[in-house]
Amino acid sequence: MTEQVLVIEDDTDIALVIRLVLSRSGCEVTGAADGREGLRVFHAGHPDLVVLDVGLPTLDGWQVLERIRDMSDVPVLMLTAHGQENDKVRGLTSGADDYLTKPFSNKELAARVQALLRRPRAERKESDVYDDGRLLVKFGSNEVSVDGSPADLTPIEFRLLAALVRRPGQTLSAEQLLETAWNDPFSVGPERVKFAIMRLRRKLGQAEGATHPIEAVRGFGYRYVVPPAGAPRSG
Ligand code: CA
Repeated sequence: MTEQVLVIEDDTDIALVIRLVLSRSGCEVTGAADGREGLRVFHAGHPDLVVLDVGLPTLDGWQVLERIRDMSDVPVLMLTAHGQENDKVRGLTSGADDYLTKPFSNKELAARVQALLRRPRAERKESDVYDDGRLLVKFGSNEVSVDGSPADLTPIEFRLLAALVRRPGQTLSAEQLLETAWNDPFSVGPERVKFAIMRLRRKLGQAEGATHPIEAVRGFGYRYVVPPAGAPRSG
């Protein structure tokens, strides 16, 4: 089967070269020139690999990587600018599988891409499921269930929940959640997060006011607190 590669790169010359190299290695290539468009193409096409530039308009490579990781364990090759050595470390701790520093040779690009595509699926998946015994989140298929019953979430609610359970106990600000969950974070205000969290809590089967694993941290944001094993269900 032909491997599908999505290239998200705003520099048209570099994008063209990547396209040529990958087509020559037998891949089918789709492209996007900014972060938001990249996510749209990603969701539309479910590629086998993403080549992702760090410096992008609308959403930068880090924001795109985070959004992709909330959904998928697809291999991601980050392209970092020369001299930005810290980006390599950041890329690998943020869930990128490999990185290439510009300028890179065609041969090196082809080799890295082939190595990532050859990786067995099982090795790519470290955490495509969150399960604390009550809440089950399948990141790949966007399925959520609470105590065994499926929860019907909108894409925004799913992304909010995914962002929170990916980092249990860690407080995420309304701004971070906006950027993670909304396609147009700059056209909506942080109060939208509050209402979406309220709806999400209700859909997860807990009443307002009861102790809920999604906690508001006054003045800071929200966090997911893993319920202790055997805790009675609230609400
Ligand atoms: Ca760029």
